[in-house]
Amino acid sequence: MKVFVRKRYKEELSLNVVNNILTILHMPLIENIEYINGNGRCVIIENKNEKIYVIVSRENADARNAFLAQYIPTVLSEFIEDSCINKKIYIYLLDTSEKAKTNFIIDTYRVAKTLGIDILNEKDLKMSPIMPYMTFKDWKYAKIDRQNYNPANNSSYAMEEETEYTIFGKLYGANGKDSSFTACQLAKIAEKENKTINFVQVKEHGTESISNTDRKLLEYYNVNVSDGAIILKDKQIHDKSTCRKQDEFKYNLLEKYGIKKCYLCGCDIEQNIIASHIHRITDINHSVLSDAEKRTQAVDADNGFWLCANHDKMFENGIITFDQSGNLVINSLMKENQKNFINHITDVMKIKDEHLNKNLLNYLMLHNKRVNLGL
Ligand SMILES: [Zn+2]
Repeated sequence: MKVFVRKRYKEELSLNVVNNILTILHMPLIENIEYINGNGRCVIIENKNEKIYVIVSRENADARNAFLAQYIPTVLSEFIEDSCINKKIYIYLLDTSEKAKTNFIIDTYRVAKTLGIDILNEKDLKMSPIMPYMTFKDWKYAKIDRQNYNPANNSSYAMEEETEYTIFGKLYGANGKDSSFTACQLAKIAEKENKTINFVQVKEHGTESISNTDRKLLEYYNVNVSDGAIILKDKQIHDKSTCRKQDEFKYNLLEKYGIKKCYLCGCDIEQNIIASHIHRITDINHSVLSDAEKRTQAVDADNGFWLCANHDKMFENGIITFDQSGNLVINSLMKENQKNFINHITDVMKIKDEHLNKNLLNYLMLHNKRVNLGL
């Protein structure tokens, strides 16, 4: 039997740690570790025709990702590429104190379990059993419960669409690793649900695309990686961006309005929620604007709302709209009995002050002119 550890982790993944792992695995203890080059923060055990990869968490991690999440993709990639047929992969926690039980870290365990990676010393956490995520909603609601399901604070954001999931993943450093890891587990879920999964790259700190290792990992799990990257709003340089405009528009809506939810009725059945433009793409395309200006308008969050399919159509057709004070207006041509079909909304609704600005009102003016409501 041979045990390998990367030279760079020589101090932390000591003989003592290795023998603790071997004890749990009911394997004989060793006296020597073989140190090798490379990056993976793991212990690799080779025994006859069997190979075991154990990802080891970090003690005294300075960032929440640095506890465990950021190490998983690298080791997982190596594991997947290993031609050994009889191979296994686990996690071993160096620290099982309260620090290992924050909501963020528990999410990491659950994501790992969804990918089939168990924790060797889970019982040391002294918690009720950690469950894998079974469905997309299961994962999403766990995130919402943590109340930080906000693309600005998270490394990644995923949304449900009719036949697919789209994940927006930040690319830089630990965020990049975390978003790849999340995308892989969502791919596992998507597979069960017969959906596809797309990974849209979000450029951050100059990192323009995911690493080759992560790309291979995503491809292994059948994640479609989009070409190009979204550029975070405050650093937007439209003419250089090569990302699909629709993805960029959606990402900007997420940043402005939060998760997919109809602005009017609050419906949050994600498959029914549309990234709805105020001033339509077709009108933008037929305008006299330069290509750069067209692009700006097409992806501008001020030029849109999340609307359910019903309210999207009603807005597009001028059955409902907002006036220049942001108040909801119902088309006066609607008959009383037809108004019943404008479900769950009333004309006391208005655009919230924090969302209302000159830019949005300008789009609205163009829209109202088109639908000919004379507002
Ligand atoms: Zn609605």
